[in-house]
Amino acid sequence: MNILFASSEVHPLIKTGGLADVSGSLPRAILGLHHDIRVIIPAYREILRQAQHLTLVAHLELEGISLPVRILSGRLPGGNVKLYLVDSPPHFDRTGKPYTTSNGSPWSDNAERFTVFCRAIHALAVNAAGLDWEPDIVHCNDWQTGLVPVMLKETPAAPASIFTIHNLAYQGLFDWKTFNALKLPADWWSVDAFEFHDKFSFIKGGLVHADWLTTVSPNYAREICTPEFGCGLEGLITHRKETLTGILNGVDYTVWNPGRDLHIPVQYNRRSLFHKTENKRELQERFALPVDNAIPLFAVISRLVEQKGIDLILDILPELVKQNAQLVVLGSGDSQLEDALQRAGSRHPKHIGIHIGYDETLAHCIEGGADIFLMPSRFEPCGLNQIYSLRYGTVPVVRRTGGLADTIVDTTAETLADKTATGFCFQASTAPALWSSIKRALNHYRKPDIWEQIVDTGMRQDFSWKRSAQQYTELYARVIAQRQKRPLLEKIAVQ
Ligand code: ADP
Repeated sequence: MNILFASSEVHPLIKTGGLADVSGSLPRAILGLHHDIRVIIPAYREILRQAQHLTLVAHLELEGISLPVRILSGRLPGGNVKLYLVDSPPHFDRTGKPYTTSNGSPWSDNAERFTVFCRAIHALAVNAAGLDWEPDIVHCNDWQTGLVPVMLKETPAAPASIFTIHNLAYQGLFDWKTFNALKLPADWWSVDAFEFHDKFSFIKGGLVHADWLTTVSPNYAREICTPEFGCGLEGLITHRKETLTGILNGVDYTVWNPGRDLHIPVQYNRRSLFHKTENKRELQERFALPVDNAIPLFAVISRLVEQKGIDLILDILPELVKQNAQLVVLGSGDSQLEDALQRAGSRHPKHIGIHIGYDETLAHCIEGGADIFLMPSRFEPCGLNQIYSLRYGTVPVVRRTGGLADTIVDTTAETLADKTATGFCFQASTAPALWSSIKRALNHYRKPDIWEQIVDTGMRQDFSWKRSAQQYTELYARVIAQRQKRPLLEKIAVQ
């Protein structure tokens, strides 16, 4: 199959979260299954700075945009996946992050930026860019690609589309004035298309018009049909239930493997776990914490936002300090959460180490050195860090929600007996519930034999992309076949 994979971030070129990890590794796995998959992404300044051997392959005149857009072609680093960059300098060649300025406020022209991106995706998808390549299916990801499915639907003989929800809470909502300025068809401002509570919703377009919907774990697929997790879109998603599939994200074990990880001070695997102690020592030193292997070392690597339950962690810090445990946090996001964490760090420098920022190397060192990983998310479409933690022998404590529930097996008498326990789970989104699972983790941590078994079981789990990539390609084939049948069925209906 020919597949065009559209994403607004891709590791290792540009990353704000899990979407980049998926966009960097899923296409590689699908290429490995012998399909021609190509990734399309905006040419942000950061990408132009890093990407090598780019060639100009097309100039596009896009509706509603005064300057032509260039398509550059290259390869995704670390593999052979073909990459198309949508180069529109007024929209993407600027200092800052993909969706926000350097100080975190959304770009005021985001609607226009991602409309340009969607128009360019559509042009390539319908072979209007002169590339002599036609996809059978376009795989769209998150709101930044939400206009593509309807653009395809309105083009005769266009390829099929799949829309993947990586996080329903980010919807791409804009007011009428912004919609009007985009020069999109006026009838798109309608409750059957993009309108959502008097806003223009990019994500709704994808949810209504894609031939198939997927999300990144089976449990999140069920959850988003309910008011608790559906962000107001649960009615629409429930309506599309028969064309919604949850496919668990895989992880890239060439990047996240303690046996080969050059970011961490000392490599280790299941049989040389004693080396993890050296990584722990270095991590304690780096955060100026007392160096002592007997002290349990907790870790958080996260966007610092309400979703991730960081406030619950702040609430249990006094208890953690009382237990003489240590905590290191790497993250950035909401300034109130950043400040509160930093204040806690200054109050308890012997127990709490805080690094505000985004630092990939440090993220690997924390996975390598910590004992226990905290992820008390209010909701979590899939979550990747708990899966990385398993492979690094860093036992996850997670809220039982979304992909966390699909990937971590709670430690109980039964799961210890059948050797399936890999972590500690709690249900209620409250500090006492989090604390009670941390206490259970600490009790087990103090029993080395049992702890080693939990660590070992976690390290043996296999969440590589192989199975998920297979599921995606099976789905692509099914959706393409359905799309090809549709004109025939319409003809028969007319007769
Ligand atoms: P989300 O996509 O909601 O942010 P995921 O768990 O799916 O959450 O993916 C987060 C990814 O971003 C992981 O690869 C994680 O290691 C990385 N990450 C998050 N915050 C930071 C940070 N401050 N520094 C380095 N990596 C980070």
